[in-house]
Amino acid sequence: MTAPSAESSVGPRPRRASVGVRVGEGEAGVMVGAGAPIIVQSMTNTDTADIEATARQIAALAAAGSELVRLTVDRDEAAGAVPHIRDRLRAKGVTTPLIGDFHYIGHKLLRDHPACAEGLDKYRINPGNVGFKNKRDLQFGRIVEIAIRNGKTVRIGANWGSLDQELLTLLMDENALSPAPLEARAVTREAMVRSALISAARAEEIGLPRSRIILSVQDLIAVYRTLGQRSDYALHLGLTEAGMGSKGVVASAAALGVLLQEGLGDTIRISLTPEPGGDRTLEVRVAQELLQTMGFRVFAPQVAACPGCGRTTSTVFQELARDIHSHLAASMAQWRARYPGVERLNVAVMGCIVNGPGESKHADIGISLPGTGEAPAAPVFVDGVKTVTLRGSRIAEEFKALVEDYVDKRFGPKERAAE
Ligand code: SF4
Repeated sequence: MTAPSAESSVGPRPRRASVGVRVGEGEAGVMVGAGAPIIVQSMTNTDTADIEATARQIAALAAAGSELVRLTVDRDEAAGAVPHIRDRLRAKGVTTPLIGDFHYIGHKLLRDHPACAEGLDKYRINPGNVGFKNKRDLQFGRIVEIAIRNGKTVRIGANWGSLDQELLTLLMDENALSPAPLEARAVTREAMVRSALISAARAEEIGLPRSRIILSVQDLIAVYRTLGQRSDYALHLGLTEAGMGSKGVVASAAALGVLLQEGLGDTIRISLTPEPGGDRTLEVRVAQELLQTMGFRVFAPQVAACPGCGRTTSTVFQELARDIHSHLAASMAQWRARYPGVERLNVAVMGCIVNGPGESKHADIGISLPGTGEAPAAPVFVDGVKTVTLRGSRIAEEFKALVEDYVDKRFGPKERAAE
């Protein structure tokens, strides 16, 4: 099955109109919202005070395609490390905008570490935990003022764990007196939407322009729908407690997929709990795959492979699908520079004659392997036309060479010169 395009009738609804927010400066800046491509972001899990490890992980996330990277700024040592991390990244040529994640003492850290306030491109704060009681507004205001002075963006993110309890109590009391009271969960959702909107309005009153504000909330679907209807702030989508492994991937894709399909969301993060020592860049790849599968963006060549069934009992088919997948992934670093547009390539690796030729014809280049009991021949289709039939024990190598050849002819300099 091919991914639906944004234009097709089964594709996503038109994107919600949102105010554009530029994160980062100059050419390194990234536009979020205002119809810009949906931005992929990620977050480090190193101790930010460990400059070397954090810079290394940010570089890896950026290399994997993360267009914004967030890091925890939880204490003086972390805030003090930020400018050094930034310098180290710049020295390596990594210009990805950096987001500082602040809770509880963000106002102090930003005040006491001006180089951190300056070095970050965006501050992420939560209106429910910037301070308590009468200090909350004051400390929220201080963070916003520092953002204004430094020309930075602020993401205001409300979530269950740190919801404004005073606001929630007020709404609960109002609801109790209502002739048609809502369920407690609906009132809590309303509190979250209002908390985000009230905080954003307060930031604007202090002087932070709307083009410097991004909003996020928790309990995705219902809350984001309401938030999207009531405002035009740029929206960050993420499912905080998605979990580990396939459960985390599925939960994130299902929740974010619904919202993206409805035209909501200007930047996304897939929050996966990593395996111990696991690869942090997985969250970037999952975010890219979600956006590409839904037809929003194109990041890498696609390999369409059938799932296999009782008609293909040997491992040749699985091995070839895996080989082609890893070959494309490994080649992309070089290909990206050499073959502009190569990320749009799509390759099919099919297990037998039932769907093989048909699907292969739909791909740029595809191969239909022999299923159990079929003659040991694998027809190859290029741009919908059968060009050759491969046989013998070197089918995998020969098909990879044909893919290389196709990429060179279609995306290489000769083709560009002839255009
Ligand atoms: S293409 Fe053939 S091997 Fe693949 S799933 Fe379909 S019937 Fe099975």
